[in-house]
Amino acid sequence: MNDPIKRRGLMLILSSPSGAGKTTLTRDLLQDKSLDLTLSISVTTRSRRTSEVDGIHYYFKTKDEFDRLKVQDDLLEYAEVHGNYYGTPRSPVEAVLNQGRDMLFDIDYQGTQQVQKRAPHDVVTIFILPPSMKELRARLERRAEDEAEVIAKRLHNARNEITRWPIYDYVIVNEDIQTALSQVKAILIAERLKRARSAQAINAFVGQLLEE
Ligand code: 5GP
Repeated sequence: MNDPIKRRGLMLILSSPSGAGKTTLTRDLLQDKSLDLTLSISVTTRSRRTSEVDGIHYYFKTKDEFDRLKVQDDLLEYAEVHGNYYGTPRSPVEAVLNQGRDMLFDIDYQGTQQVQKRAPHDVVTIFILPPSMKELRARLERRAEDEAEVIAKRLHNARNEITRWPIYDYVIVNEDIQTALSQVKAILIAERLKRARSAQAINAFVGQLLEE
């Protein structure tokens, strides 16, 4: 990462209905160390799934603890999703962005709208769609970690979530995970090079070039 042009960090938001493959995409993006992405770990009042680890997948909180974070203005955004509360801790985001590094978010459309309002120039948003509702259902059932009732609720909510695509900068249909992954990477790489993200630094760099 020896780019001579330093830029502000950006916030890359991935949203999708449950089961559209966002978790796999997120994992693969984080595994690619050359991308140097940091995941924002949310707080939630949802109960922990057996495969989840506190502090890695989420910070699991009681409703009281969550409300305290809200009142203290410790959350960059928060929302109620599928009957539970989710929020993004503010300070880790600020620390990463201040280093000129990028943060990855797996949040819903309500949180996306809040972040877009607060930091319109520093946010890049991508919406992931499933190839079909049939495939979405199959993916939710394959995960088999949620009760039938929870799956039914998520499928129902998916129909509402899918209609939110117009607020996003980019829309990807996740038919094949490798294709979707390279599409997300292409977006990230291009967004990092946008002039507006580093206009001052480019100006200084060009000044130096012209002195040679
Ligand atoms: P799950 O319970 O399956 O982990 O997540 C349910 C939904 O909550 C997903 O659509 C996910 O994007 C969203 N979500 C997770 N963390 C946050 C958060 O911090 N803020 C918001 N607004 N949504 C979140």
